[in-house]
Amino acid sequence: MKIANTQPIEEAVKQRLENEGSGHDWHHILRVKNLSAHIARAEGENLIAAELLALLHESTDHKLVDDPAAGLKEASELLDKAGVDADLKYRLLQDIPAISYKGADVKDADLSETGKIVQDADRLDALGAIGIARTFAYGGSKGRSIYNPDCPPEKHGSFESYKKSSGPAINHFYEKLLLLKDRMHTKTAREIARKRHGFMIHFLDEFYREWNFPEQMH
Ligand code: ADP
Repeated sequence: MKIANTQPIEEAVKQRLENEGSGHDWHHILRVKNLSAHIARAEGENLIAAELLALLHESTDHKLVDDPAAGLKEASELLDKAGVDADLKYRLLQDIPAISYKGADVKDADLSETGKIVQDADRLDALGAIGIARTFAYGGSKGRSIYNPDCPPEKHGSFESYKKSSGPAINHFYEKLLLLKDRMHTKTAREIARKRHGFMIHFLDEFYREWNFPEQMH
């Protein structure tokens, strides 16, 4: 494989997502790139492929682009600009639309080994302290409440219903975040996910304790 230069891709993605306000900003991409590199090294997989896919993994996300086909075309042009060879480019473009979460009861799509690493990294960035912060940032950006005891979470059986979900932010823990630790592909990510999952459980216990104060204080 020819060594690609990730610089033009980093610059283009940074410019596009710098001011994104729902937790899918440039710093999310950078964290996913760093997590992907860590997992690729630990698992003995291709580092540059993982970094390229991490940089482009949001190219077709419905929350960020109106036209996924145009997003994929732009990703393809960026990969050309970076000097990525045809084989790798084909594999990366296959993986991009398959990375994102599609619902609690929707089976994950097939991915290459690189795709599995980047999906793990993307999901790790949805967990722990960062995951909690992103979830409330996302809810706030859509004008949603943080919690409503009268509005229970749903297990979405299709991507269409997942996309349309508009419940309070805390529902997202049950619709996605708490399910992720059992949907990791790599051993490296599974270990990190276990710790981040524990932190979220602790956060939720405390959240409900404070919400119900003072009833549970004896
Ligand atoms: P992916 O990154 O796999 O495409 P999503 O786009 O569904 O997954 O979610 C990315 C992050 O955006 C979530 O981990 C969460 O922080 C936030 N988010 C997405 N949907 C919701 C929602 N309905 N309520 C609260 N946060 C959400």
